Amino acid sequence: MANRKKDQLKAIGRSHVWVWIVLMCLIFVLSSIVLGIVIGMYASTLMFGKFNSEYSRVSEIAAIYENVSGSSAETADIFAGIGRNMIITDSDNNIIYESGTNTCSFKGGEVNEISFFSMFNSGYGEEDTVESYTVYEDSRSKALYVSGTTLVVDIWEIISDYGSYGIDPEILDASPEESGISNAQLEDIMLGSGIISLPYWLSIDINGGSQHFISKAYISANLNDVAVMAASLIGISALMILLFIILIVNIVNSVLKRNKILKVFFTDVATRGHNYMHFVINGGETVRRYSNHGVRYAVVDLSFVNYRFFCICHSVEEGEVMLRKVYNTIRANIDPKRELLSHCEYSEFALLLRFTDEEALKRRVTSIIEQLEKVHGEHRFIFHAGIAVLEPDGTPGKDGVPIRRKDADIELLYSNACTARDSLVENGESAVAMFDEKLIDDKKWIDAVLEHQQKALDNEEFMVYYQPKYDPRTDELRGAEALIRWQSPEFGFVPPGRIIPIFEKNGFITEIDHYMISHVARDQKMWLDRGYKCVPVSVNVSRAHFIESDLAEQIRDMIDAAGCPHELIEIELTESAFFDDKNALVSTINRLKSYGFAVSMDDFGSGYSSLNSLKDMPLDVLKLDAEFFRGENGSGRGEIVVSEAIKLAKSLNMRTVAEGVEIREQVDFLASQGCDMIQGYYYAKPMPKDEFAQRVSAGRAVVQ
Ligand code: C2E
Ligand code: CA
Ligand code: CA
Repeated sequence: MANRKKDQLKAIGRSHVWVWIVLMCLIFVLSSIVLGIVIGMYASTLMFGKFNSEYSRVSEIAAIYENVSGSSAETADIFAGIGRNMIITDSDNNIIYESGTNTCSFKGGEVNEISFFSMFNSGYGEEDTVESYTVYEDSRSKALYVSGTTLVVDIWEIISDYGSYGIDPEILDASPEESGISNAQLEDIMLGSGIISLPYWLSIDINGGSQHFISKAYISANLNDVAVMAASLIGISALMILLFIILIVNIVNSVLKRNKILKVFFTDVATRGHNYMHFVINGGETVRRYSNHGVRYAVVDLSFVNYRFFCICHSVEEGEVMLRKVYNTIRANIDPKRELLSHCEYSEFALLLRFTDEEALKRRVTSIIEQLEKVHGEHRFIFHAGIAVLEPDGTPGKDGVPIRRKDADIELLYSNACTARDSLVENGESAVAMFDEKLIDDKKWIDAVLEHQQKALDNEEFMVYYQPKYDPRTDELRGAEALIRWQSPEFGFVPPGRIIPIFEKNGFITEIDHYMISHVARDQKMWLDRGYKCVPVSVNVSRAHFIESDLAEQIRDMIDAAGCPHELIEIELTESAFFDDKNALVSTINRLKSYGFAVSMDDFGSGYSSLNSLKDMPLDVLKLDAEFFRGENGSGRGEIVVSEAIKLAKSLNMRTVAEGVEIREQVDFLASQGCDMIQGYYYAKPMPKDEFAQRVSAGRAVVQ
């Protein structure tokens, strides 16, 4: 799961960059091709132009030579000052006149129209022929084409394919006067002017083909040509560079954007730290990299229990400031390189911690919690932590397959840590719980209860059991407590201990309280109508219910709806209810009393602030917790405490009920101390309503 998230995340980031890189390569290749084509076309056009004009020039010289038709000496006169190298051959290739240095390699051939496309064409010269020229290689120009200009190399290679050409032996004489062209003009014609001159030899048939006029020619490029070429090269290169810059800027931009997205993706808004995604993505890698046979990892779910309450009393903004402080405090307690911390959502934090010893790990988490409790300064915060350890390599997993740390499923570990944290009961104290496979069964049960609870309520699967309360001095029935049981078609008979804590957590307890109150009121009314001597029945009202400001009125209305007299109903509050908003609780108790309901404090003595609560709460009944009588046999310090508690209740004008009394000695002792009622197995266990109805009608205790 974590790997899938990781891969998806990587794919999002990567695909962007790759698109740009592929695009960049494409543009690079395309622009190189375009650049090559443009330069090639330009160069071939230029060359063909140059070649033609050089041919015309050499033709002109040849024509002059034909025209002068003088002696060899006159010919020499005409051409000597010009400096252009030339040869005149007869039809047997005998040199009949030579001027300048003869560097002609005599490897003649025909050159057809030179074009960019024809240069790539193996059938060069066949389709594209416009005119043909006989061209000989210049032995010295080899150095030129070897060292560089591709076009020249290509041309000479093509030219050499045509093989040798016969040289005309005839020499014509002509004087400059006869030609009508000045030496200066001739020089200009013959040498040309340019900054790049690539020599080759051109042959022109003269005197009806009986002689060949072979002259050194040049493909020369002047400043203009070079400038145009350079300008187009610079222009296209600049365009390419610009394109490159744009692409690189885009790539850098998209990489930065990706990093930004990843940062946002991994950042928690409230704490500005890491979020759960970061935890999941990096958890596996951290475990793989830093754990070894001695050092293991554990995932901790840390819950800020009273965060919601803090936000209600203060504000969400202040709450977030606290979350930030909590985050920073935890961070100061972990190794940032080899351990992880993230704020998951709302008031949950996920930690990945290294450990060698489970007890030491528990102590470490407890110590972090102790610091977090004091983060505010004025308020004491409560934290619950669940710990799920990654078992050592090779330990058989649930499915029997040995665990390997490289396959660590961080999300599953976090879920297990949450399950462990979920198992903790909210009692106003911070706590730490270790994950255990048994908790999974508990979790399944919790889910099953959640799934069936509404149907069970609608079908009246919940039953009211009554546990009588007797006067220990007279054994007379004085009251009872209504206790829930679930007769489930799916799960059978379910005791309250298996459902009440779940209902208290999932909020369904308020429905249960209403159900119990209205059923007890209905039963009481029914027994009254039958003429029984009814006794008050106490009903447990959950702490969660007390946040409703009109709770007293809701209870009154339900009881009135059943037509039950108020004095037959008593409300039991558990001690834990007294941790919440004290003023609201006092107000509800006072209103309940004003409607004629007695209110009792349940489980007195099981918590630590009982005496304090007694001071503030105007209660009618004090129920001594069963814990007082567990293991007691009528002597010792416990009795002193019980005796003092009864005295205290009396001086506060409260009646006392002792719970969990199982033996006669306890009954006698409590009777001697003036305890008003006893609710315990000695007299009776909780029983179905019909059985209790019989007791009501009988009135006196029937001790089993
Ligand atoms: P509780 O209100 O303290 O109820 C007294 C519990 O002590 C009952 O357990 C009762 O069966 C048990 N008990 C009474 N005498 C003896 C004795 O002599 N020995 C022993 N071992 N146990 C004795 P039960 O019925 O299992 O209820 C457990 C708890 O579930 C209750 O404790 C109460 O907190 C909760 N509960 C039960 N019914 C309701 C309900 O309708 N609403 C709410 N909110 N809570 C309920
Ligand atoms: Ca109770
Ligand atoms: Ca109790």
